[in-house]
Amino acid sequence: MRDTLPLLDKIPFPAIRRAKLDTLQINVGYRCNQSCFHCHVNAGPTRPEEMTGDIADAVLDFVKQRKIATLDITGGAPELNAHFRRLVITARKLGAKVMDRCNLTILEQPGQEDLAEFLSENQVEVVASMPCYLQDNVERQRGKGVLDASVRSLQRLNALGYGRDPQLTLNLVYNPQGPALPPAQVALEADYKRVLGQRYGIVFNKLYVLANMPIQRFGSMLVSKGEFDGYLGLLQDAHLGANLDGVMCRNLISVDWKGFVYDCDFNQMLDLPLMHGGRERVHLSDLLDENIEGSDIRVAGHCYGCTAGQGSSCGGALKEAAE
Ligand code: SF4
Ligand code: SF4
Repeated sequence: MRDTLPLLDKIPFPAIRRAKLDTLQINVGYRCNQSCFHCHVNAGPTRPEEMTGDIADAVLDFVKQRKIATLDITGGAPELNAHFRRLVITARKLGAKVMDRCNLTILEQPGQEDLAEFLSENQVEVVASMPCYLQDNVERQRGKGVLDASVRSLQRLNALGYGRDPQLTLNLVYNPQGPALPPAQVALEADYKRVLGQRYGIVFNKLYVLANMPIQRFGSMLVSKGEFDGYLGLLQDAHLGANLDGVMCRNLISVDWKGFVYDCDFNQMLDLPLMHGGRERVHLSDLLDENIEGSDIRVAGHCYGCTAGQGSSCGGALKEAAE
C-alpha cells in the first residue's frame, strides 16, 4: 500500500488550535468482520491489534477525572474488543454519553446475538455506516450481502426503539464511492429517509455526510490510479475558511489501541501524534492533569477533507450540524 503522508505533508493548511476538550474518541483495535475498500484504518478479520484491559482502565480514569462528556468508540468493529462492554457500562455510570461506530453487520456475527439489546439497555448512540441505499453501491464498497445484513440490523435496532425513542439515537454515515465531493447533507438525508422508510420501514435520526480521506486504502488507490493530485485539488478548491471553527479536532482527542494520543482519528491513521510538552508521543495517562486547550493541532493536506464544501466532521456537515 502506498503511504500518502509524504505527499500530504507538503500541502500547507491554515493553523488551528484546540478549544475545550469534551470528547474522547478511542480506537479499540483494527479487527473487523468486514474489509471495506474505503476503510481508513485498513481494518479486517485478521488484524491482531487490540486495546488491552490496562489501556481500557486508563481510558475510564481519564473519562472520570476530566469529566469527559462523550466517549466515542471506534475500530475496526469496536464490539469485537474484549473490553467493549465494560467500557460502555462504566462510562455510562460516570455520566458520559457513549457512541458506538457500528458497521451493522456485526450484529449478526456469532457471539454478538445480544449486542443490539446491550446497546439499547445502555442507551448507546449508534453511528452506523451506510454508504448508500442501493445494493450495488453498498456491496462494491463493503462486500457481498452487506446491504441485506445492514437492513436486517437496522430493522432490529428500530424494533428496540432506536430512531424513535429520544434516548436511543441512530445516526447513519454516508461517504461517496470515489474521488468526488459528497452531496448536500440535508437533501441526501431526506432521500435516505424516504427510500429506507418506503422500502424497508427503517427510521433513523440523522445522516452524516463525510468526504473520503486521501489516506490509507483510499489514498493509496488514488496514488495508484494517478488521481491523488486531482482529488486534493478538488478538496482544496472547495475549502471554506468558516469550516475551520467546527472541525472535530478542536474539541476531541483520539486515542489508539496502545493509549497514545492524536488530534483526530485521521492523524492517528497517518501516525501523526499529538504535539505536547516537546514529547515525541503523548500517552493518555500523561494528560490526566494537563490542559491542552489552546495548543496547536497537527495539520496537513488531508485536513481539506474536513473543510471542503459543506465540511465533514465526525458529526457530518459542519454548517448544517451547527444549525
Ligand atoms: S466496517 Fe468499518 S472498520 Fe470495518 S473494514 Fe469497513 S470501514 Fe473499516
Ligand atoms: S483531519 Fe480534520 S479533524 Fe483531523 S486534524 Fe485535520 S482538520 Fe482536524
